[in-house]
Amino acid sequence: MTGDALAKLVEGYREFREGYVGKQYAAYRSWASKAQNPRVMMIACSDSRVNPAILTHAGLGEVFMVNNVANLVPPYKEGKDTHHSTSAALEFAVCHLQVEHVVVLGHSRCGGIRALMEGITCKHDEPYSFIEPWVNIAREAKDGVLVRHAGCSPEEQAHFCEKEALRISLHNLDSFPWVRAAKAQRGLQTHAWYFDVGNGDMERYDAGNDSFIPLLGTPSP
Ligand SMILES: [Zn+2]
Repeated sequence: MTGDALAKLVEGYREFREGYVGKQYAAYRSWASKAQNPRVMMIACSDSRVNPAILTHAGLGEVFMVNNVANLVPPYKEGKDTHHSTSAALEFAVCHLQVEHVVVLGHSRCGGIRALMEGITCKHDEPYSFIEPWVNIAREAKDGVLVRHAGCSPEEQAHFCEKEALRISLHNLDSFPWVRAAKAQRGLQTHAWYFDVGNGDMERYDAGNDSFIPLLGTPSP
């Protein structure tokens, strides 16, 4: 980020701060100083074009957020010798905050999925240390797409893989025993959304038909 880009954010914060100390945020400040109580957790990509709070106009305190490369949910795995930041956030959201919804938000033109499909190396042609093993969480998605869509272009295959990876993340959510328990005992719901960064369309995964349909119910004109 250049100095000018950072200065723009500082100016944005200045505007936020002015509203924050005014009446607009008075109610928020009164409860936020005690505890957070979001009803929704979202797991989104680190991609700068896919910010769930901006896409949904969510306010402070409304969404418990996790961002990671390619918005992946790893499978449940016990162990104290590994670093499971996404699993830790999920545990806190489901077991402590008792959120009612977990939304995995995927998107088009995802660099993480592209890295999964094509491999990725740093500028000196050496493999990255962390990206490959991370995106391999969705390895099954890649393998399936390469078989089912063998004749498609790399761009089309990546598109299919982005959605297939969402199915895997939904499946992995259910591998956590306390997610299954929360679903059965208090109605926790898990969702997958897919955002098209090119045209702004948002789809949701319809488990009944195993397909993605417009989030707003009707296709955009
Ligand atoms: Zn991405």
